[in-house]
Amino acid sequence: MKKIILFLVDSMMPDVLEKCVAEKKAPALQFFLEHGELIPDCVTVFPTMTASVDCSLLSGVYPDQHKVPGLVWYDPKTKRIINYVNGFQPVYRIGIGQCASNVLFDLNERHFSRNVKTIHEELEEKGLVSGSINVIAHRGHKQHDAKIPFVLDAITGFQLKEKVSGPTILSLGTLIQPDIFRPINWNWSHAFASSYGINDSYAIDVLIEVIRSGKQPDFTLVYLPDNDHKVHQTPELAVEHLADVDKQLVRFLDSFASWEQAVERNVIMLISDHGQTVIGQEPEANIPLDEMLFPFRVHRLGADITPDWDVVVCNNERMSYLYPLSAELLPKVVEAVSGDSRIDLVAWKEGEWAVVRAGGSDRTFRYCKGGPLRDAYGTQWSVQGDEGVLDLRIDGHTVTYQAYPDGMARLYGALFSQDIPVIVVNAAPGYEFLSECSPTHQGGGSHGSLHQRDSMIPLLIVGSAQRFPRPARLIDVKSFILQELAVAPVLA
Ligand SMILES: [Zn+2]
Repeated sequence: MKKIILFLVDSMMPDVLEKCVAEKKAPALQFFLEHGELIPDCVTVFPTMTASVDCSLLSGVYPDQHKVPGLVWYDPKTKRIINYVNGFQPVYRIGIGQCASNVLFDLNERHFSRNVKTIHEELEEKGLVSGSINVIAHRGHKQHDAKIPFVLDAITGFQLKEKVSGPTILSLGTLIQPDIFRPINWNWSHAFASSYGINDSYAIDVLIEVIRSGKQPDFTLVYLPDNDHKVHQTPELAVEHLADVDKQLVRFLDSFASWEQAVERNVIMLISDHGQTVIGQEPEANIPLDEMLFPFRVHRLGADITPDWDVVVCNNERMSYLYPLSAELLPKVVEAVSGDSRIDLVAWKEGEWAVVRAGGSDRTFRYCKGGPLRDAYGTQWSVQGDEGVLDLRIDGHTVTYQAYPDGMARLYGALFSQDIPVIVVNAAPGYEFLSECSPTHQGGGSHGSLHQRDSMIPLLIVGSAQRFPRPARLIDVKSFILQELAVAPVLA
């Protein structure tokens, strides 16, 4: 049976992919397109941030089930803000030790729900071998030692001594090296922003070495992050940035006797985690949450979270979670952020219902699971109010999404990822949220929102036995791979 390799290319967008190939700047992607099939309108997870997306890719469910709400969120159990590292400033305030611990251990061992199984767990329970290269979500049945660099070890107080779980072949930059015959020596040619080997060239070196070693897993997930950093800075050069990714894919193809041999031996898949939206140059492009929330006492980063504060802000670039620390504050906080049309959606929970308000107006829409309406994914819904708020079209019993693809299930996934009062705010195209120490990208690219520009991703499949189900979603990739490897999906 063929093996499967899935490349996860951060911030790869369908129109950029097609343009890059049309301009003959991407020979590897062109080869894959000629031998496979491109689905340009696959829908990813909300919030459109790597951490929540990775957990959905591995588990096949939205955050209401896998329980990782986003890149940045508030954990009421520990009364702490969880940040899987987003920008230097907040990391500095929250503490590098806590952030490193959040990524290395807590995400996989504590936050990622045990009620769902990762693709690595399911494959290895069926006697197959799974692999993960540089993906931050990697929970599996094997235990691995992390080699913490001395500098990081010292500043974290030598606390990061726990074992890390993963599939049989696990690589995480220089921190965890896979168990193969020839170790991959990290060198400065691998350094992209000195990110401990979490970069494209190191990941491809590891993949090539894993294949050469004869230990290639039945399934390998490979994360290529460089494109995201570059598109954030210069979105107008997105085609050139994807061409750089292609150079790495060429190195992978060149490691075989011929490119044809690569696709004869492997099912090769490429997917993205999210798109990006260009943010305006002007200062108004940043939506100042702290200002809007005045006179509420907004928690300051680094301070303990106590009842002295009214609201905790967890900024995920083009979406934010706002946590009122007492339930009676919720309607007042909703009111404070609803007056500005730069926020296109303000959403919260009322019992089983999700309630959504259009920013800059008092139009509202409510929906819950189950009921007479059905969407293209087969999910059934009950709705009340103005469906235009979520840009839905309702025709008889059929509901169709437009600006917010799979909008009801995806927004529901974020709202119900936690069972505490929370408000989701979504930025309109061209805008992103500004809060204490948050990274901003005026004139650059940003993501996180429910809007289609952040949410539509390409899915490219070469050499599979079956056809991917349509309309395509990222959460359906897991069951597709299990079927392709003839492993019956196991209900979690
Ligand atoms: Zn990004």
